[in-house]
Amino acid sequence: KVSLEARHISLSYGSTEVLKDVNIRIEPGEFFALLGPSGSGKSTLLRLIAGFNQHQRGELLIDGKDITGTPPHLRNVGMVFQNYALWPHMTVWDNVAFGLVERKEPKESLRRKVAAALELVGLQDYAQRRPSQLSGGQQQRVALARTVVIEPKLLLLDEPLSNLDKNLRVQMREELKNLQRTLGLTTIFVTHDQEEAMTTADRMAVLDKGVLQQVGTAAALFDFP
Ligand code: ADP
Ligand code: ADP
Repeated sequence: KVSLEARHISLSYGSTEVLKDVNIRIEPGEFFALLGPSGSGKSTLLRLIAGFNQHQRGELLIDGKDITGTPPHLRNVGMVFQNYALWPHMTVWDNVAFGLVERKEPKESLRRKVAAALELVGLQDYAQRRPSQLSGGQQQRVALARTVVIEPKLLLLDEPLSNLDKNLRVQMREELKNLQRTLGLTTIFVTHDQEEAMTTADRMAVLDKGVLQQVGTAAALFDFP
């Protein structure tokens, strides 16, 4: 479990300022939602934490250590995308194993970890299927398994439920919350859905035009009883 802190983070594309003096601290093990309309800079902030974007000003700290300049694969950060980004030609097993194979994980522990990750998301019986033979919800579970199998310290979720239909979305956000609790991973969940944020997150922030507007619990932000 790690903490994440952004201090005075700013990022521009050319003359367009996308993140403006963002300050935030996310506690170890916390499930944090980043809420805001399309174009407000949510993905940019997440990609920055993952190391795919670089900020021009400010500091980004994991457990108090500045990770600016640390390449993505050395950050111990796992990211799940809206479109799942699974390999279509690979089985579920091979999709989940991929990151471990890249890290040259020994065969025995690789098998154990992939099996455990599939069991965690309830897909142990689907190991030999291909992504196209799965439902949307199952594909998203594979994407989650593939990310948690590498044992990241920080889990980043970029609108992971947006491609699912309404009923499945409600079911999956429960699963997501349970998974996060089970693993105890510090998690940042990007969504434009207020209800989704309120039902999953310990705390949340609203991002508007690159400015972090509000940070607090659902009760504090939306006047819950
Ligand atoms: P959100 O995730 O909240 O929808 P984004 O972080 O994707 O917002 O985008 C924030 C702003 O940054 C948008 O105005 C978008 O057009 C702009 N933007 C994102 N990526 C790039 C890029 N690579 N080059 C230029 N502008 C970008
Ligand atoms: P070997 O190299 O000994 O044949 P691998 O570990 O490379 O075995 O696995 C071959 C294929 O079998 C993998 O690509 C994977 O799809 C599948 N596989 C391996 N172990 C399991 C398992 N425990 N459950 C389901 N499928 C598995």
